[in-house]
Amino acid sequence: GATIGILGGGQLGRMLSVAASRLGFKTCVFEPGGDCPASHVANAHVQAGYDDVEALKTFAQSVDVVTYEFENVPTSALDLIESIVPIRPNRKALAVSQDRLSEKAFLSGLGLTVAPFAAVDDAVDLAEAIAEIGTPAILKTRRFGYDGKGQARIMSPDDAPQALADMAGASAVLEGFVSFTHEVSVIAARGQAGDISCFDPGENVHINGILHTTTVPARLSPAQRTDAVLLAAKILNALDYVGVMGVELFVTPQGLVVNEVAPRVHNSGHWTQNGCVIDQFEQHIRAVVGWPLGDGTRHSNVEMLNLIGDDVDRMPEFAKNSAVAIHLYGKADAKPGRKMGHVNTVLGPAS
Ligand code: ATP
Ligand code: MG
Ligand code: MG
Repeated sequence: GATIGILGGGQLGRMLSVAASRLGFKTCVFEPGGDCPASHVANAHVQAGYDDVEALKTFAQSVDVVTYEFENVPTSALDLIESIVPIRPNRKALAVSQDRLSEKAFLSGLGLTVAPFAAVDDAVDLAEAIAEIGTPAILKTRRFGYDGKGQARIMSPDDAPQALADMAGASAVLEGFVSFTHEVSVIAARGQAGDISCFDPGENVHINGILHTTTVPARLSPAQRTDAVLLAAKILNALDYVGVMGVELFVTPQGLVVNEVAPRVHNSGHWTQNGCVIDQFEQHIRAVVGWPLGDGTRHSNVEMLNLIGDDVDRMPEFAKNSAVAIHLYGKADAKPGRKMGHVNTVLGPAS
């Protein structure tokens, strides 16, 4: 059987590995850290940094296709890997989503609605951006942000100097504050034949910038649900995408606003493990190896709850509830803010 290379050894890599294994594939994880969640379940682990040319070559030569669990893979590593083996999803998807400025430009170029935005590299840019966009606004680093890190709220122009200082010299983008009623995401998959399958949108609640719960069904009208799925399909087609993508959306009375996209399986898609016959991890593996996509129809109402840090101490309580499916990542220490696992509570048949 074929071997799938996975860049990144966190929980997403772990769950991709499990799905690949169930379909009869072997996996090899590339991850600098030693005792990582994916290394516990993958068939092989290349423990090296992204600047280690020999290790990257060995990794690429030992696999038939490479996919990834995070979008910040250095370009030089991707160039080297791609000279040896295909990378799916493709490089364009990575390039677009690695940088919030190119991401916003790409999405608005497709005719989708995004928050008003402007590039900010210094105090002059920021003053101009605030004059144009107004407040409240959010300054975000263009690259490497996740779980709300690298962001500063600007409630009035007085907050500008502190917000800029928070960027620590990194290139940033100012975004107008979107006054949304709630947040949803579409987990969408596209196969190598161009077939598309979207999971039902989930409704997301964040606490301190970190995803707290995803609930399906989301509160959406039939028209909004159709809009969400169609705009996700538009993004996938435009990128000639292969694999699963997470598309985060703000719901507003004026329509859906695209927040950001992630070219990979997504935390807000973990509910699919217990809400669908084929979950996002299997769907992603099917796509990257060229299989037809599976049926992602939702059979149950589900609430996914992330276990962050000490939340994992509630395991005995969750284990007593027979409707709760437990997913732990095998991480040793429950540091604050660290994603330790999640639980999916099956609420009943799909409604
Ligand atoms: P993730 O962990 O999802 O990758 P991230 O660090 O990339 O998160 P964003 O998704 O950009 O950050 O923002 C995190 C949260 O902050 C959003 O889910 C939303 O709740 C809020 N937020 C971000 N941008 C805006 C905006 N322009 N207007 C209003 N709220 C926003
Ligand atoms: Mg993000
Ligand atoms: Mg986000």
